[in-house]
Amino acid sequence: MSSPPGQLPIRPPRTGPWFWRLPLLTILALVSFVGLVTWFGLAQERDERRAMLISDTLWMEQNLRFQFESTGNELLRVGNQFGIGGEIHSDAAQEKIRELLQGDSGLIAILWLDSNGLLLSTLPASAAPIRLSDEHAITVMRARTLNRPVYSPPYAQPDGMGVIELALPVFGTNDFHGYAIGIFSLPKVISRHVPWWFAERYRLSFIDGDGKALAATTDAGSISPEAGFSVRFDHMNSLGIRVDSYRATTRVTPLLVILVLGGLSLVIAWSLWMLRNRVLRLQETESALRAEHAFRIAMENSTQVGLRARNLQGRITYVNAAFCRMVGWPEDQLRGHQPPMPYWPEQDAAMQTIEPLHLADAPTKTAETRYRRQDGQLFDALVFEAPMIDADGVHTGWVGSVLDITERKRTEVLAREQQQHLEATARLVTMGEMASTLAHELNQPLSAIASYSAGCLNALKAGRFDEKQFTDILGKINYQAQRAGRIIHRIYGFVRRSESRREQMQVNAAIREAAGLLEPDLQRRHIKLQLVLNEDLPLIHGDRVMIEQLVLNLMRNGMDAMHDQPDTRRMLRVGSESCSGGVRLWVADQGGGVPAEIADQLFDSFFTTKPEGMGMGLKICRSIAEQHNGRLWFEPAEGGGTSFFLQLPLGEADDA
Ligand code: ADP
Repeated sequence: MSSPPGQLPIRPPRTGPWFWRLPLLTILALVSFVGLVTWFGLAQERDERRAMLISDTLWMEQNLRFQFESTGNELLRVGNQFGIGGEIHSDAAQEKIRELLQGDSGLIAILWLDSNGLLLSTLPASAAPIRLSDEHAITVMRARTLNRPVYSPPYAQPDGMGVIELALPVFGTNDFHGYAIGIFSLPKVISRHVPWWFAERYRLSFIDGDGKALAATTDAGSISPEAGFSVRFDHMNSLGIRVDSYRATTRVTPLLVILVLGGLSLVIAWSLWMLRNRVLRLQETESALRAEHAFRIAMENSTQVGLRARNLQGRITYVNAAFCRMVGWPEDQLRGHQPPMPYWPEQDAAMQTIEPLHLADAPTKTAETRYRRQDGQLFDALVFEAPMIDADGVHTGWVGSVLDITERKRTEVLAREQQQHLEATARLVTMGEMASTLAHELNQPLSAIASYSAGCLNALKAGRFDEKQFTDILGKINYQAQRAGRIIHRIYGFVRRSESRREQMQVNAAIREAAGLLEPDLQRRHIKLQLVLNEDLPLIHGDRVMIEQLVLNLMRNGMDAMHDQPDTRRMLRVGSESCSGGVRLWVADQGGGVPAEIADQLFDSFFTTKPEGMGMGLKICRSIAEQHNGRLWFEPAEGGGTSFFLQLPLGEADDA
């Protein structure tokens, strides 16, 4: 974020990024820890399962071995009891053998061999021809040699059934009788002697010496990839069992824990990240606000404009240093103050009306007023008051800026006085310029009076006294004296006054006065004057002498402009007319016109093209027009020359 020019730089957020990494690191550590614990737990569980698999396998091996042994013993006992001769076919023997075949022994066939190993009988007789082991002869031989039960290597029947052959040497009372051969079906052994809980948890298979499975429990699931465990039976010719555990379903739980924990951690990390961004943004905003605040304070302290805020009840809620300096009251005495304010002039009733004005729902206001400093001194103040609208758009009070305009007012008064002096001086100068003409004009009635009175004296001296003639001459003297008096009166009226005086006045009267003053000059210069006056004009509010001065200046300029024109063109026309909202007067000459290159400078001070000119005439005319809220301008006149127009409003002018 860049700071505005002159504004204090925005400080970076104070909290370093490490602060925000800490919770993230903690979450990471927690997740790792839980992961490790779960992993160890799983490993431990795996080890435990393996240990259980081994012990279950060993137990099973023992169990099966015991079954094989007890079946072998049972078969031997039958053989020994009945002998391999004819008695084995006795009912009792048959009964025993049927029991053996039908019971849980796992035997599918029993063969009786004589002492030479020749087959005497096969039980059950109905059984399909039994395939004997490839090592049948060796097995029988070893049984005889070792004089104990011997197992053949496991092998498969033509239908694929895994079997194992047990050869038992049978003795009668003392003599060797022959052999009993038991064929164990391995699937049958499994189905009879592997308990359900074992088959549910593991797959058990009988394996041969090469580890090839000959029979197995029915599959109850998929096999775990962990290694199974195999064990060989002692003295059972490479027969062994292999136990594989099924894939554990309980593993879902730790995985779920990890997943849920991971998910939750992600959510926490994400929300932390969002929180961090938000806090950083808040910090940035706060920092920007602080800089903005400092910038504002600096601005407020540097400004010379007094600032003041008030709530809707008029109570002061804020003042700046400049306002305190202006009124001389300390901030703590102003803040919270309710009307009447200590800086209101005690006697000033106007104040009571101006200030409560703003309490109403009024738009922005500008008012000139007077305030009182703490030392009692009064000063002029210009107050701009605007409604204070808060962030929700609610009008909560007023903010005012206050300017001490005492000095400005003093300067304005001075300037006005100077302007009046200038105008008065300009009138005197005009009169000075017209002095010879006026003296000549005045000379006429005075010489007439002198010659009339001399004529009277001579007549009296000669003793001629004709009452009628005397009355006639005195009448003429009186007329000439009045004429001289009028001229003097005009001059006196024109130059006498220096201060401005406004009244209801006739524009035509001012035109006639000016024309009267210029009459001798017009005659001297052979200029015809034509007045085109509208006698129904409304009155205007203005200074008669000023308007007269303006008309006189315009007429004199028009006369000057025609000085090199032939007599036929020397015609000055002055007129008045009403216009929308006021009256308009005009002065039109038939001079050379205003050259375009000087048109812009005509109203400038001291701009003149005349050798004896002062260049202040039009400048004064324009300031008179402005003082009357009017407008002065010029246009080329019809038929050559220039027309000057003055438009004045009917309303009251600013009597500045
Ligand atoms: P001054 O009469 O002393 O020169 P003004 O301010 O009255 O001063 O006039 C300034 C100039 O404007 C004149 O010098 C003249 O060149 C020009 N001017 C004024 N009135 C007319 C007019 N009616 N026709 C042509 N030029 C004019």
